[in-house]
Amino acid sequence: MPTGRCECGAVAFEITGKLTPPSACHCSQCRRLSGHVWAGTWVALKDLHFSRQDGLKWFKSSKWAKRGFCGECGASLFYQLNEDADRCSVAVGCLDQPTGLTLKRHIYVADKGDYYGIGDDLPHLDTY
Ligand SMILES: [Zn+2]
Ligand SMILES: [Zn+2]
Repeated sequence: MPTGRCECGAVAFEITGKLTPPSACHCSQCRRLSGHVWAGTWVALKDLHFSRQDGLKWFKSSKWAKRGFCGECGASLFYQLNEDADRCSVAVGCLDQPTGLTLKRHIYVADKGDYYGIGDDLPHLDTY
């Protein structure tokens, strides 16, 4: 069963059910919030079980979405669209290995940082 946590452990969870192939988002919001590219996998909320969430805080990052992070260590953990009451995207970087996942595509590539290239053959989308 996939498990994950923030760096300090004040947010820890396990996921039941199937993980979807992750996308790497290059938008400026993801880069500012995470420090670089943010990769997430969509998970049904009913499949996301917290063993610890005392550190969990939410930040309304836009009119259409909010971000879940650890208020203790600052780890960027979750992304949830307002319109999605039943799922959220979980940061793949916070999952314990082996994740069994393979990155599927790059999104918001038109908005990517100017300090790196993307050196793989996956689809590069300029939006979502
Ligand atoms: Zn933490
Ligand atoms: Zn993004």
